[in-house]
Amino acid sequence: MRPVEQNEVAVALDVGGTWTRAAVVDEFGKVLWRNRVATLRDQGTEALIEQLAQSVGQACDIAAPSSIRGIALGMAGPLDPRTGVLFAPPNLMEMDGVSLTQRWGDSMGAPVLVGNDATLAALGEYHYGAGQGCHTLVYITLSTGIGGGIVVDGQLLQGASGFAGEIGHTRVESNGPECGCGSRGCLEAVASGTGIARQARARVARGEASLLAAEVSSMDAIDTVDVFNAAARQDRLAQDIVGKAARGLGVGLLNVLQLLDPDLIVLGGSVSQQWPVLAPVVEAHVAEHAMNSHFRESFKVAVSPLGDDIVMLGAAALVWDTISQLSAYP
Ligand SMILES: [Zn+2]
Repeated sequence: MRPVEQNEVAVALDVGGTWTRAAVVDEFGKVLWRNRVATLRDQGTEALIEQLAQSVGQACDIAAPSSIRGIALGMAGPLDPRTGVLFAPPNLMEMDGVSLTQRWGDSMGAPVLVGNDATLAALGEYHYGAGQGCHTLVYITLSTGIGGGIVVDGQLLQGASGFAGEIGHTRVESNGPECGCGSRGCLEAVASGTGIARQARARVARGEASLLAAEVSSMDAIDTVDVFNAAARQDRLAQDIVGKAARGLGVGLLNVLQLLDPDLIVLGGSVSQQWPVLAPVVEAHVAEHAMNSHFRESFKVAVSPLGDDIVMLGAAALVWDTISQLSAYP
């Protein structure tokens, strides 16, 4: 494998439905510079691509005089990792059918790589976060949506078409709440930040008694943190919603555990900050339903230490991994 040369850096972007983050990262995962801008929404595909090009250009200017080894973007949505084409990303519909790898070609002065954000986050966790030293690592983001990535011996498990890891749309509650994908009872509908808040709003709007009804200025103002806070104060409606989220997560994580036998499951995203509240229910579910003592004893969960940098660190790892692979097959 070709070693990374001194003063080589990666330019890494995290393109989400709300924020676009950009960073310059060295081979050790040190973030040398970072910036974020609100993702330009509802102004069309070309305007968004132009904004992303500007973010890349700014990072490249900052990175000089270091040599930029690659530019990688983690995109919020399903995409084909071979072509980089995004497939109907719900939070980035402007980019449906677009591949920045193909679109930009060589024009950026360095190879352009793209990946799904949760998948790249798994790679970032494996190289630079809680997953260091793991053989099999599963990363799950509990955020606006729920996505996941799987790393086995340093390689991303992509699946036949690149869509592997969509744990958010595995079913954890029969007849559960409706999901954005059109199904019901998906883990994302039950335990994502959006799902938790949406359930609370709907039930308060139907007239169910709750502290939430009196404490917020409007239904739309109820957010996930409000629900967890109300649950901590023994509000029964909030406790019911949080309890269902925890049980759903228990079902989902036990399925992951027994399907992949990971060393570690890492949770990221805003809802992962509530892990101390969710953990007792999840752990009780695993203790009760795991098929044997191996799975009961090997169930380990960590909350990601990488914060908002996680997707960018994964994108940088993709650059360094891709260089290694290219060099192995000259
Ligand atoms: Zn779904």
